[in-house]
Amino acid sequence: MPQHNHAPARICPNCSGFAAVAIATGVRLRDGSRATVPVNCPTCHGAGIVTRPAAVATAKAV
Ligand SMILES: [Zn+2]
Repeated sequence: MPQHNHAPARICPNCSGFAAVAIATGVRLRDGSRATVPVNCPTCHGAGIVTRPAAVATAKAV
């Protein structure tokens, strides 16, 4: 049976709520772990949610 639970309208349309990520640089640290760079979504600035007018404006721009 299909479910009709749509995502809340406030979730950022640019990142779908995954607002912060760590990108591997390709460099290994001394302990063997990968050096990463934290990056936030430019639309919601790492919050994952936006106000409704901003979400509509971004969707039209894309
Ligand atoms: Zn975002």
